[in-house]
Amino acid sequence: MISISDLRFRYSEGGFALHVPELAVESGERVAIIGPSGSGKTTLLNLIAGICSPQSGRVVTNQVNLSGLADGARRDFRIRNIGLVFQEFELLEYLNVLDNILLPYRINASLDLTKKVRQRAVELAGMMGIGDKVSRNVRQLSQGEKQRVAVCRALLAEPPLLLADEPTGNLDPTNKDRVLDILVEYAESKGSTLVTVTHDHDLLSRFQRVIDFKQFYDLSSQVP
Ligand code: ADP
Ligand code: MG
Repeated sequence: MISISDLRFRYSEGGFALHVPELAVESGERVAIIGPSGSGKTTLLNLIAGICSPQSGRVVTNQVNLSGLADGARRDFRIRNIGLVFQEFELLEYLNVLDNILLPYRINASLDLTKKVRQRAVELAGMMGIGDKVSRNVRQLSQGEKQRVAVCRALLAEPPLLLADEPTGNLDPTNKDRVLDILVEYAESKGSTLVTVTHDHDLLSRFQRVIDFKQFYDLSSQVP
């Protein structure tokens, strides 16, 4: 599902540089990524999703070489193949919960916003424990509730690849378990691949493999 080789990336500003010699994630695998803050975990997810492009090396996601695609094609690919749970949620503040969950269908003509999709959005909200808040503006939600909206949105289009950036970071223990149960059950039932950045060592047993980001960080040449 993901194959990275000799990837080198640096931001245009600041000295952060990332070098990933080799990283492969099989289809259907559940992988956790751990590592110190600032080590590039979010950056790596953005590279896998084609939100950032590397200066050199290859990123192949779901058999598509992202480096070979233009910006528009990369965005279309992402919408069809990847469910992203952003660390900062990236919700639209002027929309309510339901419309935020439905967002991928609203902004992409190739996804058809049917009655069934709406029903599924409401069902997902219920499973996440925010079913009573679907008409509420997202500004009136707690951080943990916003996080669950972001998870619902990522699952809605039933993507073959889920990239979740600290999806339980703002949750209490009960909701942590609930969100992870839903992510894992979703991945198992659809055969989807799940890559999750987490600081939560209690949750690592739910993954088949743990990648410690330190290995890439140490290899990366940081320029002050
Ligand atoms: P992590 O998710 O592991 O905490 P990030 O991938 O967010 O780390 O960031 C890795 C490094 O890149 C940090 O030093 C951060 O300050 C820097 N960084 C992140 N985004 C940008 C950006 N847009 N421009 C320049 N530097 C950035
Ligand atoms: Mg991060």
